[in-house]
Amino acid sequence: TRILGIEGTAWAASAAVYDAADGVDSVVIETDAYEPDSGGIHPREAAEHMHEAIPQVVERALAHAVETHDGGAGEPPVDVDERCSSDKQAAPVDAVAFSRGPGLGPCLRIVGTAARALAQSLSVPLVGVNHMVAHLEIGRHTAGFDDPVCLNASGANAHLLAYRNGRYRVLGETMDTGVGNAIDKFTRHVGWSHPGGPKVEAAAKDGEYVDLPYVVKGMDFSFSGIMSAAKQAVDDGTPVEDVCFSLQENVFGMLTEVSERALSLTGSDELVLGGGVGQNARLREMLAEMCDQRGADFHAPDPRFLRDNAGMIAVLGARMYEAGDTLALEESRVDPNFRPDQVDVTWRGPPEQ
Ligand code: ATP
Repeated sequence: TRILGIEGTAWAASAAVYDAADGVDSVVIETDAYEPDSGGIHPREAAEHMHEAIPQVVERALAHAVETHDGGAGEPPVDVDERCSSDKQAAPVDAVAFSRGPGLGPCLRIVGTAARALAQSLSVPLVGVNHMVAHLEIGRHTAGFDDPVCLNASGANAHLLAYRNGRYRVLGETMDTGVGNAIDKFTRHVGWSHPGGPKVEAAAKDGEYVDLPYVVKGMDFSFSGIMSAAKQAVDDGTPVEDVCFSLQENVFGMLTEVSERALSLTGSDELVLGGGVGQNARLREMLAEMCDQRGADFHAPDPRFLRDNAGMIAVLGARMYEAGDTLALEESRVDPNFRPDQVDVTWRGPPEQ
């Protein structure tokens, strides 16, 4: 099975070609990132970026796939346009998978239109992938885990998922903003450019702990109080390094606490991490330590699979395609609020009774 994946929920205009026979390590991912001149992600600007960049990343990913599989050293260059004709035999992929949501509506609509047009011109099926389930599944796949709890720590989201009876259930989630967005709001206040997460991580190395709020309610959690307090602390003259250090300790401590609770509740001994904030070494250290203490296995995929990327869309797209889980064009509307627990998990076999 060879799948073209297209991702474009927020900042990453990304395309990937995944060949199941070659394995995940050889997936080709082409990404063109939107970087705001100032402030955070502006939906209209991000959509304009998708409009410009999606055709280019798709072209590059397909060209690479065609060259590596059908060309090879010494062969004349392959004309991708020719291969993308309506002749089914010549289609370079078996299906086109795209991120259907959640994400920014204007971005999703451009990606959805591109995916529909490509699927039609290649005469191949369309697969609609939930972006958050893709964050989870890429970790499950690269870890070789059977039934993990997943902590999705991304820009616009933060939640814990576990599989039960045909769906990934949300065990706990943020009661306000996503974790990355919360950090980015703090760094905007401080005057640092987007994205803020890596800057907080760097500054935290020289910091000491100061008191900040810590809000966990069962397996749900909240970031708005801690972010307001962090902004106020900087305005009041607390060294920004100390605030960054304490932010990380509290925010990641909260995520670690709820992850442990989810492992305990489900009885699972596998934890996978998903999302761009998962690139943070301190978060990974805390989660790994907690898992170690309770004898659970912890896995964080490579950074290229943690941040938004089309590789995870293509990999889950391949599993959905193999399960016959394709989308009719007239049912392929994007959904900015597409929750992971709305997805019928067709690729893990029939639900247990
Ligand atoms: P979603 O997947 O929910 O749609 P998203 O599209 O914003 O989120 P991701 O690529 O998953 O994108 O995550 C981006 C976020 O990751 C940004 O908020 C960024 O600040 C954060 N981030 C990136 N690197 C780090 C890091 N080293 N430490 C903490 N946060 C980080």
